[in-house]
Amino acid sequence: MYYLTFDQDWAPEWASQDIINLLVQYGLLGTFFVTNLCESIDTARQHGFELGLHPNFLPGSTHGRTWDDTLDHMQDLVPDAVGVRSHCLIRGTPLLQKYRERGLLYDASDIFDGRDGMSPFLSWTGVWRVPIWWEDDVAIHRNGLSAFIPTGEPLGIRVINVHPVLHALNAHDLSGYVALKKRLRSEGKALHQASRDDFIPFMQQSGVATWLHGFCEWLARYPSWQGNRLRDAVSDRIR
Ligand SMILES: [Zn+2]
Repeated sequence: MYYLTFDQDWAPEWASQDIINLLVQYGLLGTFFVTNLCESIDTARQHGFELGLHPNFLPGSTHGRTWDDTLDHMQDLVPDAVGVRSHCLIRGTPLLQKYRERGLLYDASDIFDGRDGMSPFLSWTGVWRVPIWWEDDVAIHRNGLSAFIPTGEPLGIRVINVHPVLHALNAHDLSGYVALKKRLRSEGKALHQASRDDFIPFMQQSGVATWLHGFCEWLARYPSWQGNRLRDAVSDRIR
């Protein structure tokens, strides 16, 4: 079963909207992990996408000084968030305990890319742990963006993770992303304020967008392999 997930990572509104439009076009659902509010979050909600938190626990975070400040802030932004995936996949027992206290169903911050036969794991804290099976930037690091062509029935859960910014750049490596951020910094502009015109000089070909479009087209043909939202992966286990 495939599950499409997206880490917003302060993407411009139009970049997240492009992803929503793509999934809607193919009749697919997914889960958005939110870093900041923008109109696309409401659109995702209206289309039945699941929302999760994407808190930044790193030093200097704009989400809060402490873990509790950060989670308070995030849950104020997205009170209907079902689960969580932390920025940079920060995880650990004290965090799982906090997620449990706050009523979050799962933590999707593990990555075991390419491993077959995985399933959500109910940790002793009562929070489910849901691993990522394929992630765009990891595929780029492994030089495997074009190598993955799905065939046959998936074994276990396969959680796909795509970043709207890398999709908007159609990145096939991270050089355009690094250069874009440098340019925006020099102009005093935040990533979420960037226009499509700001992105154009840094766009690439045969990258994440090409891959995701091909994947969605393929997945749309197999309704029984569409896992939809991450809470469905967990509730399949409870049943
Ligand atoms: Zn992130």
